[in-house]
Amino acid sequence: MEKLNDTYLKVHSYESGGTVDGPGIRFVVFTQGCPLRCQYCHNPDTWDAKGGQIKTAKEVVAEVLKYKKFMEFSGGGVTFSGGEPLMQKTSLLPIFKALKRQKVHIALDTAGTTNIDETTLNLLDLTDMVLLDVKHLDDTAHKKLTGLTNERTLDFLNVLRDKNIRTWVRWVVVPNINDSAEYGEKIAGFIKQYPNVELVELLPYHRSGVFKWKELGIEYPLENVPEPTKEAIKELAGILEKQGIKTLYAK
Ligand code: SF4
Repeated sequence: MEKLNDTYLKVHSYESGGTVDGPGIRFVVFTQGCPLRCQYCHNPDTWDAKGGQIKTAKEVVAEVLKYKKFMEFSGGGVTFSGGEPLMQKTSLLPIFKALKRQKVHIALDTAGTTNIDETTLNLLDLTDMVLLDVKHLDDTAHKKLTGLTNERTLDFLNVLRDKNIRTWVRWVVVPNINDSAEYGEKIAGFIKQYPNVELVELLPYHRSGVFKWKELGIEYPLENVPEPTKEAIKELAGILEKQGIKTLYAK
């Protein structure tokens, strides 16, 4: 308990009743700070690690536990999202331990942008499932899209396979960047190497966060990129399904 009082987590916000960040009804903790700069980010207000509200681990655990009954009833749990939650993995460790003791289902929504050290491995031992954002398989395109290499994400996915952790891969489909049929085939071939990946979730790029870029005074790089159509998403999902990969997307 002592550790929970002495550990601090920078939180951007909480969301109760979430239904899009993992199975069942979820309580979502959006952590503050992200090392990536995705061109389509709809939460650029989570980027600055100096921002957010400082909470003790005890406060975070207490907040999550308020919703335990709803989570259990729906087969849900808590999802740690961001930002990049792994930026604060040392703080997350005692939080995950406390929540596991209470038998709360824990999902981690991450781009895997961290080094694989003991803290990462210990945290994963307490994680029931991972929602892994694979932004682009081509490293040059990944760097252009996010500002960083995809090496850490792919290393992270290898660890998830080694530990056999239930994983949903998330693919934010951005027109002209990663929405070709050829790219779909590439994703399918890649995912087949990972038996721990239960499904690929296709998330259409959307422009709902553009106003936040304007508020922060940052130029939005995808100004002329349209949102993909439902048909386009369905076609890409079809490519994966043909190869035996389960998909999830808004119909
Ligand atoms: S990883 Fe998520 S929070 Fe970070 S820049 Fe990309 S979309 Fe935004």
